[in-house]
Amino acid sequence: MAELLASGGTPEMVRAVLDNGADAVYVGVKGWSRRRAQYEMDDDQVLVSAEYASSLGKVLRVAFNTLPASREIPLLLAKVEKFTSAGIRDFILTDVGAMRELSRRFPGIQIHASVGCTIINPDDAWFYKEAGATQIVAECRMGPEEMRRIREEVGVGLEVLVHATTCYTLLGRCTMSSYTRQEWRIDAEGKNHFLGSPNRGGLCYRVCLAEWDRVGEDGETEVERLVLPNQAYFLVDDIPSLIDLGVDTIKIQGREYSVPLVGRMVRFYRALIDAYVGDRSSFRIDPWKERMAGIVSARDGERLEKTAGLISESLMS
Ligand code: SF4
Repeated sequence: MAELLASGGTPEMVRAVLDNGADAVYVGVKGWSRRRAQYEMDDDQVLVSAEYASSLGKVLRVAFNTLPASREIPLLLAKVEKFTSAGIRDFILTDVGAMRELSRRFPGIQIHASVGCTIINPDDAWFYKEAGATQIVAECRMGPEEMRRIREEVGVGLEVLVHATTCYTLLGRCTMSSYTRQEWRIDAEGKNHFLGSPNRGGLCYRVCLAEWDRVGEDGETEVERLVLPNQAYFLVDDIPSLIDLGVDTIKIQGREYSVPLVGRMVRFYRALIDAYVGDRSSFRIDPWKERMAGIVSARDGERLEKTAGLISESLMS
């Protein structure tokens, strides 16, 4: 049966995710995952969270899914050593060199090629499998035929994101926020923390969601206002077909949502997956769509507020 995975932005969220029925939770290490520090954890919080997951017989994945500078590699290896010594076996990575090195040094660990890898077809999946990935995260525009081929031909685990919206660009390939605001600092351990570049371990300001002006040939006159497309994908309707396709992991995104909302989302998807797997022939999706409508409006409310805050933050000097 497909594993249900959700995000743990704080130790409290880790508990909510696991207590509400997720099989696994992922967390980011400060400066090493694609979020701002507020939704990442220090090493001790990661270890405590892993212990909690293990006490329930569940799994904690640690995200190091940014592109490290060469001089940060020893720090990455030291952290992975620390976490594997404490029994953590699952890591989310983007950098190909880091995948090769970790799979060589720590045999038996599970390497999840992050959404930041922009894996959109079976060839991409082969590439990351050969680099050491045991599971890949599908880019949100990947279709069912590619998924089927990855399951049957590539033979690597497949994870899909649900309950989120597409990036205007391909996930993992966006540099837009860096043009509006960039800041970085080096912490006491020597890790560089970026704002304005999710790929380097910082924050996306969601600037694609601002209103854009298209100007004429003179470079000044406003011709039209544009809103770039930002669509939801892998909706509730898709869950049965994802399960039928043999997807290994269904991942709910949303480290920045409130803990009660994350708990509610996990409860919903747990019940939905169990209901479908329990009795596929009499399963009907409509009642689930109605239940989901309330969650979506709560989620959209939180997301809109966060997006407005991020866009205005991007304009601060
Ligand atoms: S700016 Fe928009 S397209 Fe770029 S990473 Fe952020 S949400 Fe995605």
